This record gives sequence, C-alpha cells and structure tokens, in this order.
Amino acid sequence: MKKLIAALLVGTMVFSLSACGSKETASTDAATEAATDAAEGTEAAGGTLVMATNAEFPPYEYYEGGEVVGIDADIARAIAEDMGMEVKIDDMAFESIIAAVQSGKADFGAAGMTVTEDRLANVNFSETYAEAKQVIIVPEGSEIKTADDLSGKKVGVQLGTTGDILADDIEDGTVERYSKGAEAVQALVQGKIDAVIIDNEPAKVFVSENEGLTTIEDAYEAEQYAIAVAKDNTELLDKINASIANLKESGKLQEIIDKYISAE
Ligand code: GLN
Repeated sequence: MKKLIAALLVGTMVFSLSACGSKETASTDAATEAATDAAEGTEAAGGTLVMATNAEFPPYEYYEGGEVVGIDADIARAIAEDMGMEVKIDDMAFESIIAAVQSGKADFGAAGMTVTEDRLANVNFSETYAEAKQVIIVPEGSEIKTADDLSGKKVGVQLGTTGDILADDIEDGTVERYSKGAEAVQALVQGKIDAVIIDNEPAKVFVSENEGLTTIEDAYEAEQYAIAVAKDNTELLDKINASIANLKESGKLQEIIDKYISAE
C-alpha cells in the first residue's frame, strides 16, 4: 500500500518533472533533434496526430455509433485544433499504449491514464487535466466495506491499470485480470469474483448499467490523469501543455467534462 501511495503521489510532481525535461532539451544536440523530427513524422506528414487509447473506458473513451467519443477524445480534438491538425484514434489494449507512444506508432496516449512513477520512466506526461481515484465495486449487501476487507478475496481489475497495482497489494487476495473493465464487472455480476477495483467515473457507468452493484468510494488516494508523450518529443509536449492551459482558462475543458459527466 505504501509503495502504491508513493507511486501515485508522483502525480503532484508532474509539473516540476516536465519542467526539468524541457530545460534539458534546451541544450539538445543535433542527434536528439533528428530523433525528435523522426518521432514527429506523422505530425509533419499528414497534419494528423495519432492518439493511442483503449476505448473501453466510459466516459473518457468509448464507442458510440462506430466512433470513439468521450472526454479524452474531445480534449485531443481540441488540442489538435489549436495546432491546426486532426486526430486519428488508434484503439488498442490499455497495456500497449505506453509502448505505442515510445515507439512513435502514436504521437500521444490519452486514456484516463494516471501519472505514475513507473510510467514516467518511459514517457513524459502533460499537465494533468482530471483528478480521479480507484473505487471498489461490490454486490449490494457485500461484507466488503473497506479496502482492508479485500484480503483473502477474489478481485477483478483491468490488466495493467493502477487498479491492478493496488490489487497486487491485497493480503492473500486473488487477482483476476481482464482486458476490459466491463468484463471484470460482468464477472462480478456472475458471482465469479468478489469485487472490482476501477476508476471512479467508469465505475459509475458500469454500476448504472448493472443492477445490484454498489461502490465503495473512499478506499484509495487521488490520482491524476495526463497525456503521455514520447520522452524525445518535448516540442509536442510543450504544445499539448499550452493547449491544456488554454482549455482550462477558456472554460472549454470544463465544458467537455460537463458534456460527459453530469453534476449530481
Ligand atoms: N487510470 C487507470 C490507469 O491509468 C486506468 C486507465 C484505463 O483503464 N484506461 O491505470
């Protein structure tokens, strides 16, 4: 648990870390610049930014009539618009997103992705654009009331997520890993597992779609969502950060969030 809190706390340090990152690149040599240009290939060529995501995470990214919609999709389109570009969404396993960004297959990753220390070793993160937390979904009337009650239980998570990391720390717990959060919730509905650990907003959607489930809200620490960009592409990171600042200042970010999350 302590280990995880340390990993998540990193969210609050992102800004200073990315600031260090750009200072370093102020003295980039020609080789690094060439690598940056190569990484930006898709950007320069077609006026299109490729966004890696996993469109199984409502309300941040999900399918509606064959199109990927959601908070991240709208934010990405608004950022691209600021840059006079378009977005192409590449839907993949959540687990593959960091590698896609690192390799240049995608220009950035936006997937309700929490800033963690481990991920920061492989990619840079933009300024954060949303706060979230992991919650525990249980059947109504479950004896599980707190995170400690998960010990000895069968817990479902989406593979490679922060929920997965938290579940790993459960004493004597069994972790069932699914490729989609919705699959974990189905297993819970069918009584195959005792609980699901997942981000709060998708949890709300899944609980509303399935009868007999309830959520334990205050089990874990806050997390921060940000956009992942390749380490060597600080030019794009700076542009994304400038755009996020604009979106925050103009109220457009809140508008996007309000479109998908109704205030209670
Ligand atoms: N916020 C979680 C994470 O970053 C889950 C994200 C997701 O499943 N799309 O690991």
